[in-house]
Amino acid sequence: MFVLSSKTCQIWRLSPGGLAIAETLRLNEHVNAEQKLKLARFLDLSIDTLKSGYRSVMYNYHFSDDGAPSAAAGAETGFSPADIAAEITSCSGCRLGKTRNKAVPGEGAEHPLVLVLGEGPGAEEDASGRPFVGPAGRLLDKMLASIGLSREKNCFIANTVKCRPPGNRDPELSEIRACAPFLARQIEALKPLFILAVGKVAANRLLRASPGQNGDEEPSPEPISRLRGRFFDFRFPGFRGDPHPADSVEDSGIRVLATYHPSALLRDDSLKIPAFEDLKKLMLRLAVLDEGYRQESRALMAKYAAKDPVFAAEVEEFLS
Ligand code: SF4
Repeated sequence: MFVLSSKTCQIWRLSPGGLAIAETLRLNEHVNAEQKLKLARFLDLSIDTLKSGYRSVMYNYHFSDDGAPSAAAGAETGFSPADIAAEITSCSGCRLGKTRNKAVPGEGAEHPLVLVLGEGPGAEEDASGRPFVGPAGRLLDKMLASIGLSREKNCFIANTVKCRPPGNRDPELSEIRACAPFLARQIEALKPLFILAVGKVAANRLLRASPGQNGDEEPSPEPISRLRGRFFDFRFPGFRGDPHPADSVEDSGIRVLATYHPSALLRDDSLKIPAFEDLKKLMLRLAVLDEGYRQESRALMAKYAAKDPVFAAEVEEFLS
């Protein structure tokens, strides 16, 4: 916990003996409210990064000379996706920061219905600083368009790690954990209705990650074939154990659906049908929850229902 005034910053730690001041920093110059918040966020992120862990919840900051904390304090302290992107582009929190050309914070709608989450940038993303711009990105755009979604209008596209792992290898656990605070803050800022996790890295991060603290071990990754096609409640990183069903009482209000990564579909045509089945499930849930989307996707849903009696029955059940 950080307690900041205009002249000092105290870092308090909770230990078995109770809450105690761990460090007091004396600030050289008067800092305003915005600078205090940035410093707190920076220290918070730095400490998480140094220990290769991440926080289990998003903190609300209260500064000692700002008066009594209010219920709105959390909302006032929220960073925008653009602020988070600016931090990402200058981050050197893990070794990927040394080998990347451009960090890839993500892009898309400011208030998305869906956050699409991949694993990490590839060569074309690393060169351009934009997510999913290669062949897999073009296929992803088509997949989204098939259910009335797009990165311009109602999706935000991002990756689990924001910098390219050399040689397109999978990101390592220490890199994923170092980058996790950025992902958690993006989710907090964007507040999507759904997260579509494409591929095993993103799905395991969202559904099976351990807190990464106190020497906790990460559970063995599950193959995407076992995680895909079902809805789960999302809990901010700090979640440990098996995915929870969508009727969990500890619901963040955000649901996760995992499916195959478009790169996998490019390699194996047979995965396209199950991936499309997953997308239709997402389409139906979105239509239930968002009136605007329901109206806009009505024609597409009718088209799919005409060819697929099971889907037609689900549309009837959920939307009638
Ligand atoms: S991958 Fe994430 S933590 Fe590592 S340098 Fe890039 S932005 Fe920072």
